[in-house]
Amino acid sequence: MNTEQTLLQRSDAKCELCAAEQNLTVYHIPPENEDSAEKSVLLCDACRSQIDNPETMDTHHWRCLNDSMWNTEPAVQVMAWRVLQCLLTESWAQDLSDMLYLEPDVLSWAESASMKDSQEGTVAATVDSNGTQLVAGDMVTLIKDLAVKGAGFTAKRGTVVKNISLTDNPKHIEGRVNGVRIVLVADYLKKVS
Ligand SMILES: [Zn+2]
Repeated sequence: MNTEQTLLQRSDAKCELCAAEQNLTVYHIPPENEDSAEKSVLLCDACRSQIDNPETMDTHHWRCLNDSMWNTEPAVQVMAWRVLQCLLTESWAQDLSDMLYLEPDVLSWAESASMKDSQEGTVAATVDSNGTQLVAGDMVTLIKDLAVKGAGFTAKRGTVVKNISLTDNPKHIEGRVNGVRIVLVADYLKKVS
């Protein structure tokens, strides 16, 4: 049996959080995202879309946790716990959260990712050509000649750029070359230690 068949059998073909019977799909629980029944739950599209977008949560929908949090499957307990963490401003959710006891290993699994983290994702570090992490204020040198578009000059290999700043893009930094503030590709830089 594949994961979906196992989950359909385990859940009696119902959403494991709200018991809906329509539009069920397998949800691999982050951060492992493993394709196994132990690490997955069967969710309806209403539960799934709110878990993927916690800012759209309909608190009324999640009253279903009143039943589903007592499920004996650790995977279901983990998802019930994570959803409740997003609803703690509601007193009923606070009460359920107080009642929901997780075994220590299940609790550490539940805590290993928050739904908000999975939403934002992890920001990749900016690294130079050697894979050394760059931070704002670092000094770097160019490892190849770079034609600076729009500025009409070529930044020569070996040029030192002091006091760099990071950008939203982990592949780019900003720095001043020949008095002009430009964006540089981190792959073409080497950190001066
Ligand atoms: Zn559901």
